[in-house]
Amino acid sequence: MNVFTRLFVSHMVAIAVAVFALVLLAEFFAPQFYREHINRMVAAIGPAGQELHGDLEQGLRSTLTTAMISALPLALLFSAGTAYLTAKRIGHTVSLMAEGSREITQGNYSKRLSSTSKDELGAMAQYFNQMAQALEGVERSRIELIGTVAHELRTPLAALQGYAEGLMDGVLPGEKAARGINREVRAMSRLVEDLSLVSRVEAGALEVHPQALEVPSVLAELQERFALAFAEKGVGLEVAASAGLPPIWADPERLQQVLSNLLVNALRHTPVGKQVTVGVTAEQKAIRFAVRDQGPGIALEYRQRIFERFYRVDPARSRKDGGTGVGLTVAKGLVEAMRGQMGVESELGQGSTFWFTLPFTQT
Ligand code: ADP
Repeated sequence: MNVFTRLFVSHMVAIAVAVFALVLLAEFFAPQFYREHINRMVAAIGPAGQELHGDLEQGLRSTLTTAMISALPLALLFSAGTAYLTAKRIGHTVSLMAEGSREITQGNYSKRLSSTSKDELGAMAQYFNQMAQALEGVERSRIELIGTVAHELRTPLAALQGYAEGLMDGVLPGEKAARGINREVRAMSRLVEDLSLVSRVEAGALEVHPQALEVPSVLAELQERFALAFAEKGVGLEVAASAGLPPIWADPERLQQVLSNLLVNALRHTPVGKQVTVGVTAEQKAIRFAVRDQGPGIALEYRQRIFERFYRVDPARSRKDGGTGVGLTVAKGLVEAMRGQMGVESELGQGSTFWFTLPFTQT
C-alpha cells in the first residue's frame, strides 16, 4: 500500500468512525440526555402531558436523524475531498523524494525537486535540493581532483621519460640527465607532500603544536633562510616589526612554512630591482603579518580563487616556476589551524599584500 492510499484510507476510517459516533448519539444518547427535560415539561403540564411524552421523544429522535441525513452527504463529500487532496499532496511529495533519492543513489547528482509549498513539505524538498547540490559539489571536486593530480603527475613523468630515453639513446650527457631527473623527482615529491598537507588541512586533521614565540626571532630565522635566494634574483627583502610586540601563540615550523610559501610567491612575482617587505603589527586581538611585493598584482576575479587548491592564475608559467598551485591553500589552512585568518589585498600594477593574523599568547 503506498503512502497516498494509506493516508486516504486512514482518513476515511476516521470519518466512518465519526459518522458511527454521530448516529449513536442521535439514536440512543441524545434522547436519554433530553429525557429529563421532557419529564419536567410533562410534569409541568400535568396529566394531559403524559400523552405528549412519547411524541416528544419520537420528535426529537426524528429531528436529529433527519438533520443528520440531510447534512451527512455534504459533510462526507467535503471530508472525503479534503482527505483525498491532503493525501495526494503528501503522497506526491513523498514519492518525489523517494524517486529523487533513488536517482541520487544511482549517481545522478543533478536531480532537483520542484515544490512551491511553503510548509514543511516545501522545506523538506528545499533541504533535499540543498543536500543534492552539496553532493554534486563534492562529486565535482572529487573528479576535478583526480583529473588535476593525474595532470600534475603527467608533466614530471613525461620529463622523466624524456631523460630516460635520452640516456638510453646516448644523446643526453649523464650529468645533465641526472640533474633533470633530480629536478623532476623533487617536483613530484613536493606535489605529494603538498597534496598530503592539503588533504589533512581539508579533513581538519592537521596537527599544530602552538607555543609562545617572539616575533623578532621568527623574522630573523625567515631572513636567514631567504637572504640568499633574494640576493641571487636581485630582489630586496625588508623585514620590519613594530616595537614591543607581545609574543604570539603559534607552531614554529608551521609558521615558517606559511611565511615561506608567501615569500616564495612574492619572490617569484617580483621583478629584479624591486622589493618585498614583511611587516608585523599588533591589532586589537591579534598580531598581523603582511608580505608585500611589488609584482604585477592580482585582478579581483583571480583574487577570489587563488586560495583554492590547484588554482593558478597562469598555469603554464606557474608550473614552469615550480609552483604546484596549492601553496596558498596550505598556508591558509595552516593559519586557520592556528586560529588565525588569511587574506590578500592587491592592486594591478602596484603589487600584492598577503596578510594573516595569529592570536597573542594565551595567558
Ligand atoms: P603556486 O604554487 O602556483 O604558486 P599558490 O597557491 O601559491 O600556487 O598560488 C596560486 C596562484 O596565485 C599562483 O599561481 C599565482 O598566479 C597567484 N599568486 C600567488 N602569489 C602571488 C603574488 N605574490 N603575486 C601575484 N600572483 C600571485
